[in-house]
Amino acid sequence: MIPTEPIGSIPRPPELIAAMAEFRAGRLAYTEIEPLYAAAVADTVRRFEATGSPVITDGEQRKSHNFASYCVDGLPNFVNDGFHLRFVGHERVWPRLTSGPFAFMRRGAEFLAETQRLSNRQAKQAVISPSAVSLFYPARELPDYSRDAFIEDLLREHESDIRSCLEMGAHTVQVDFTEGRLAGKLDPSGGLLNSFIGLNNLALARFNSVERRRIGVHTCPGGDRDSTHSADVDYSALLPSLFELMAGRFFIALAREPDRRRVLALVARYLKPEQVAYVGVIDPLDPRVETPEEVRDRVLEAAEYIPLSQLGTTDDCGFAPFSDDLSTSRETAFAKIEARVVGTRMASQQLEARWSLQ
Ligand SMILES: [Zn+2]
Repeated sequence: MIPTEPIGSIPRPPELIAAMAEFRAGRLAYTEIEPLYAAAVADTVRRFEATGSPVITDGEQRKSHNFASYCVDGLPNFVNDGFHLRFVGHERVWPRLTSGPFAFMRRGAEFLAETQRLSNRQAKQAVISPSAVSLFYPARELPDYSRDAFIEDLLREHESDIRSCLEMGAHTVQVDFTEGRLAGKLDPSGGLLNSFIGLNNLALARFNSVERRRIGVHTCPGGDRDSTHSADVDYSALLPSLFELMAGRFFIALAREPDRRRVLALVARYLKPEQVAYVGVIDPLDPRVETPEEVRDRVLEAAEYIPLSQLGTTDDCGFAPFSDDLSTSRETAFAKIEARVVGTRMASQQLEARWSLQ
């Protein structure tokens, strides 16, 4: 069977989104919002199981702002006026570190523990890449806390979080690397992308080859309010460097690409023998739910390029990487996940039948 996994996030229930806004405005105590978080995670896990998905997540319900800043949200030495992440039509602002030292406030391992308490299904955990968190350090070096000291602390925190998730039995620990494709836009020379790859490899190099097989990397052009930040950056600027990352699994947005075959040819060319490519067969930004037959055909198309032993499927991105994104309903997200699971199974059966005839 061709393996299939989600990326991570599921739209939060509207009552949780409303309560999070009240909490941020100081009108609600944390004790009042906590039962809503717990209920959202429990409902997400139950509905994830109902899709038949062999691998589930907590839907990132507790990543209180987004997929990147969850690790520092609530820390006293951060303010909200850092790097501007520009989507087509709107922007999001990353937090900025004001002083050292630096340590994570929240970790993927905490979220994973809750998923595992609620379900026996294989669970994966997404964590933010060191390169994304490196953007939280200000452009001007802090007097009491050098950039080098920050990077050292960041790598230690990131490594220990991944290690905890692996030890807990995570099916995959996925490093979210949306800024990889964006780097081609911010610096067309490729210098920024190379520095991101180099930094993330400093972390990945701390794991052995068996551990790395369960460490994945997610690439996408961003996904928020039905918009992207770097879909106009050609994959040929990213993919040759992407597979230099010392990870075993790559979760690659593909369904929304205008020329999927061209991207598949690039993936096939640069994918290393020990790496598995999970290609996106669902477009979370498209409100229409794909049919299982469409998914099946996308998998069969990918199988023309990528060896079956190195092929998996996924969604192009999470369904709500930013917690207040109301552009997709939970119902639509789970219907799309079910289509991915059923369509991938259909393709697997078809490919298996072909194989047995040969
Ligand atoms: Zn994504």
